Amino acid sequence: MIDREEIKQELIRIAGAERVTADEMMSGHTTFRIGGPADFFVTPRDVDSLRGVLQFVRGHEIPHFILGNGSNLLVSDEGYRGVVIRIGNGFDELAAEGTGIRAGAGVLLSQIAAAARGAELTGMEFASGIPGSLGGAVVMNAGAYGGELKDIVRSVTVMTEEGEVLVIGRPDMDFGYRTSIVKKKHWTVLAADLLLQEGDPAAIDARMNELREARTSKQPLNYPSAGSTFKRPEGYFAGKLIMDSGLAGCRVGGAAVSAKHCGFVVNEGGATASDVYRLIRKVRRVVYEKYGVMLEPEVKFVGNFPDLNA
Ligand SMILES: Cc1cc2nc3c(=O)[nH]c(=O)nc-3n(C[C@H](O)[C@H](O)[C@H](O)COP(=O)(O)OP(=O)(O)OC[C@H]3O[C@@H](n4cnc5c(N)ncnc54)[C@H](O)[C@@H]3O)c2cc1C
Repeated sequence: MIDREEIKQELIRIAGAERVTADEMMSGHTTFRIGGPADFFVTPRDVDSLRGVLQFVRGHEIPHFILGNGSNLLVSDEGYRGVVIRIGNGFDELAAEGTGIRAGAGVLLSQIAAAARGAELTGMEFASGIPGSLGGAVVMNAGAYGGELKDIVRSVTVMTEEGEVLVIGRPDMDFGYRTSIVKKKHWTVLAADLLLQEGDPAAIDARMNELREARTSKQPLNYPSAGSTFKRPEGYFAGKLIMDSGLAGCRVGGAAVSAKHCGFVVNEGGATASDVYRLIRKVRRVVYEKYGVMLEPEVKFVGNFPDLNA
């Protein structure tokens, strides 16, 4: 059994001392601003370094978690017992060619949208306000305002757990509502090729501004959150069900159902993961009792949480 100091030294050997930290507070890496310490936090500088880290943690059966921009996560107050592997700085290529864009998994959607606008390409506007990395957005098939990642992805470059690099064409990505094949296969997204269309810069600007205003007016962007807390249940809207259940403004500790948009649980100040978890549980129970609809979280739970259905 490998001990903590050996894990640290090996990670430093593979990834470099400046790219490895111990007991890293995850609250600094999530848009919820919540989450206790990860035993180890590694930001690989490139594909080879990532491969080395993956092979090491796998070889020693050390739990590991792939982190993008942390905008869809609730990390437990106890943090994460294992290695968090951040796909960020190091996976940041961004190039437009013809009507295509190739971007690294660590690039933010807002940066890609700006690059698309600069190259006079349309099709990316819907994603410009989603605060995720390209990798996280591909995994989640992120979507908004009628668009989804699957509409613009041509292919995705992934690394398997064994360290093999594969290029997966869109038809094989099994994209669905807020899901793709990536999680099921335990792949890591390295990059993606997107296919857009030639567009008029003024029209692109107008659409991005329109969507920005729609978000600002409807979403509680002044509080930390992880976006929509629940998936859209078939035939309903989560936010409306929650509002109609009388839960607007409902609080547990520092966590609250946003009165501006009931689909968002927000951190109004000092919320713990446990506050958010208990509020999610309460919302599910009340909505179920009232409407017979069991809301499923869209937010991913990382670390130790009691079973929501127990
Ligand atoms: C204010 C706000 C508004 C939002 N609006 C929207 C919206 O309109 N539409 C929408 O769909 N979402 C929305 N979200 C949620 C979130 O931004 C998206 O789900 C986004 O795609 C998550 O990307 P991320 O890089 O932050 O991923 P993370 O939150 O870091 O991770 C999400 C999941 O992806 C995995 N992952 C991340 N990167 C990789 C990688 N490179 N390889 C393999 N797995 C990876 C993680 O393991 C995790 O399972 C919103 C969030 C906020 C805070």
